[in-house]
Amino acid sequence: MQTILIRRGRIIDTSQGIDQVSDLLIQDGKIEGIDRQIDPPEGAEVIEASGLVVTPGFIDIHCHLREPGFEYKETVATGTQAAAKGGFTTVCAMPNTNPVMDTRSTVDYVLSKARSEGAVRVLPIGAVTKGSNGAELAEMGELAEAGCIGFSDDGHPVADSNIMRQALGYAGGFGLPIINHCETPELFRNGAMNEGWVSNRLGLQGAPNSAEETMVARDIALAEMVGGRIHLAHISTAGTLELVRNAKEKGINVTCEVTPHHLTLTDEAVMGRVNGDDSAFGPLSAAAYDTYAKVNPPLRARTDMEAMVAGLRDGVIDIIATDHAPHNSVEKLCTFQEAAMGISVLETALGSLMSLAHSGDVPMPIVIEKLTSAPADFLGRSDIGTLKIGALADVTVFDPDAEWVVDSERFVSRGKNSPFHGATLSGQIVATLVGGKVAFALNSIESNEG
Ligand SMILES: [Zn+2]
Ligand SMILES: [Zn+2]
Repeated sequence: MQTILIRRGRIIDTSQGIDQVSDLLIQDGKIEGIDRQIDPPEGAEVIEASGLVVTPGFIDIHCHLREPGFEYKETVATGTQAAAKGGFTTVCAMPNTNPVMDTRSTVDYVLSKARSEGAVRVLPIGAVTKGSNGAELAEMGELAEAGCIGFSDDGHPVADSNIMRQALGYAGGFGLPIINHCETPELFRNGAMNEGWVSNRLGLQGAPNSAEETMVARDIALAEMVGGRIHLAHISTAGTLELVRNAKEKGINVTCEVTPHHLTLTDEAVMGRVNGDDSAFGPLSAAAYDTYAKVNPPLRARTDMEAMVAGLRDGVIDIIATDHAPHNSVEKLCTFQEAAMGISVLETALGSLMSLAHSGDVPMPIVIEKLTSAPADFLGRSDIGTLKIGALADVTVFDPDAEWVVDSERFVSRGKNSPFHGATLSGQIVATLVGGKVAFALNSIESNEG
């Protein structure tokens, strides 16, 4: 098989505490060695990575591939191609497909699609309840056997507290997490965006922070009582962060994730403002509101965004996950209230996250940890999220400083719904390797004929 030498890159591998300029050798789909200097073996392909960062392939524990049932939004093929372009080598697919991934046959279908058409590794997440309608537990044992890495009714919360209690106990028996989309329906109501001064000014129905926090508090209380593993999807408020911090201090088994957009955007993006920059208008801004910034949970106030950044830096937040939620343009080309919720994230994740490293708010190794070794730990995997010798050669190479203008029409994802459309990001993926094979390359790779 192929031998690849990635030369002179800044290797950041938080699983081993490595942050140094080195060479990385890949052979037969596995990591073969890291050293200050490795001579290229005969016939090796050489990737010159001077000035670039080399890390384990990114792992996204939360994305929506939409297949089966919503292929007009995304497919396993296009979603995994978008993942590769974004530096992700493993993605976990949420079960809100049609049919819902609540049986072995649907999970098998997605896995077979991933094997035949996928550009990166796909790990399925099974539904908590049948049809994700919140009434009756799905066959979790069957789903675990089929390869599901956890359970979620994402898109909807597990609203019934007794169902959640049972789910935590049952999934805990398999050592698998319940991943909850925390939203108390009675408080969320028809919230189209964050409840605050922006929603007041725009005259849009807002969803308050407490819609998230009340369910987070409930889930933590249930986890304390039942045990098991609760994982809080896409947390977005300062109050949630404090609840998680206190729960962790008490030793309750809770983990949480944050999205790139909740770390970098505020509810002002609904007015077409990205990072306070009025020039970065979305394509729909002529309609006054940017429906591409409509997402659930909603983009919050600046104080919440700053709390997310602090929580990432100090370790209360375990993982960065994209919540990549592609939609067809017709689902966004409508009134703000009617527009679908979700952002196409995979191809802008690194570029937006690098703003945190460039500003000094979060050191780059922490950003990388939350995309690599931390999600690998969450999945209980020691063969990915690391560049240890013998690990799968899932590797991401990126230029942390390269500036590019986001044109979502050029996304390989079918979902063009990005509030970053038109914005300038700095940080670009150069190459993504999955099992030692190039899944994405920005430029052609030189071959060393020895
Ligand atoms: Zn969700
Ligand atoms: Zn989601």
